[in-house]
This record gives sequence, structure tokens and C-alpha cells, in this order.
Amino acid sequence: MSEPLPDIPSTLKELHRLRRHLRNLQEEIDRGPRVLKIRQQNLNTEEQAHRTAHETLKKLKLQQKADEGSLKETEQRLAKLQADIHSAASKKEFDAKTHEIAFTTTRKSELEDSILMAITEIEERTAQLPAVDQKWADVQAEFAAYQKEAQQRLERLLTEQKAMQAELATVEQKLPPDVKPQYDRLIKSHNADALAGVSGRNCEQCRTTITEQTRTKLLSGLFVCCPNCGRGLYLAE
Ligand SMILES: [Zn+2]
Repeated sequence: MSEPLPDIPSTLKELHRLRRHLRNLQEEIDRGPRVLKIRQQNLNTEEQAHRTAHETLKKLKLQQKADEGSLKETEQRLAKLQADIHSAASKKEFDAKTHEIAFTTTRKSELEDSILMAITEIEERTAQLPAVDQKWADVQAEFAAYQKEAQQRLERLLTEQKAMQAELATVEQKLPPDVKPQYDRLIKSHNADALAGVSGRNCEQCRTTITEQTRTKLLSGLFVCCPNCGRGLYLAE
């Protein structure tokens, strides 16, 4: 009978520290995929912006080419109308051609304006393109670096978690067989919050004041639960 009695509250204090640490680790591990998802969405947005910049320029160039084709046709039509007007057989025909010349002249002017505007926009967008490409390259490199860093962090966290779990199992073995089932039930219900320190005279979980008798039991190394919230107690200070 020389074996000293186990100090259960001290063991609970250590278990509480380990379990809270493990909970924090788990939260950090769980945060990883959520952050990655947001970064992935940002990457997709940037990719779309990059693609749109190139596609818009391509469309503008096609539109300009089509307008130039239309302008050529319009000019040819106008030249023919102006040549033909002198050979009009009647006033009616002359009036009709005059009307069409006016209409075609307006159309020609509209096309010229449209082409000029397109040329200006194409020049501006072409000038911006190197910056657009550079930004997309930077964003991709940044994402790749983040992924690598996140992977390293995860590995570090998992290693730490494994070591903590092993330490937890070792400390839990210190609990006497008659206390272990109660401890297990508490953990099942409240996880890392299953245990609570007593600070001064108060349970740190529910703030209830403990009796002198309870305090004496804790000082004697006995397993005591808070009479109010049921948490396994230990002396915090
Ligand atoms: Zn309590």
C-alpha cells in the first residue's frame, strides 16, 4: 500500500489542456478546405476576367473586319448609284435613286464611325493586354504558392494532432478504473468542455460557487463534478 493515490484533479487539468488544444487543431484543420474553396473561387473569377479580355478583343477585331467589308460594299453601291443617276429614265426613277444615295451615304458614315470607334477600342484593349496577362500569371503563381503552403501546414497540423492524441491517451491511462466511465460519459456529452477549472471559489464553466467541502475533496485529489453543470473539476490556480 505504498503506492501514492492518484491526483485526479491534476490529471483532469492536463486532460482539459490537451483536449482544448486538440479541438483548436481540429478547427484549424477544418478551416483549410474552406479557405481553399474561397481562393479557388477567386482564381476562377480571375480566369474568367482574363478570358473575357481576350475574347472581347477578338470579337472587336471580327466586328471591325465585318464593318470594313460592309463599308466597301456600301462605297461600291454608292459609286454605282452616283454613276447611274444621270441615266435615270424618269423623274420617279431619279427621285428614287436620289433617296437611295442619301440613305447609302448615311449608312457609309455610320460604318466609318463604327470602324473608327472599334479601332480606338482595339488599340486601348491591346495596350492593356500585357497587364491583363501579367495579372493572370501572378494570380496563378500566388494560388500555386498558397496550395503548397496549405499542404505543408496541413501536414504539420496532422503530425501535431497525432502526437497530441498519443499524449492524451497516455494521460487518460492515469485515470482510475472507477473514474474512467464517468469521464468518458462527460467527454461524450461535452467534448473539450467536459472539464472545468475552479478559479477562486467558482466553477469556470458555470460560475457557480463551490463549497468548502468540494474544495477540500479537490485538494485531496478526489474526482469531483460541479454540482451545477456536472463538469469534472480541478483547481485552476
Ligand atoms: Zn459548473
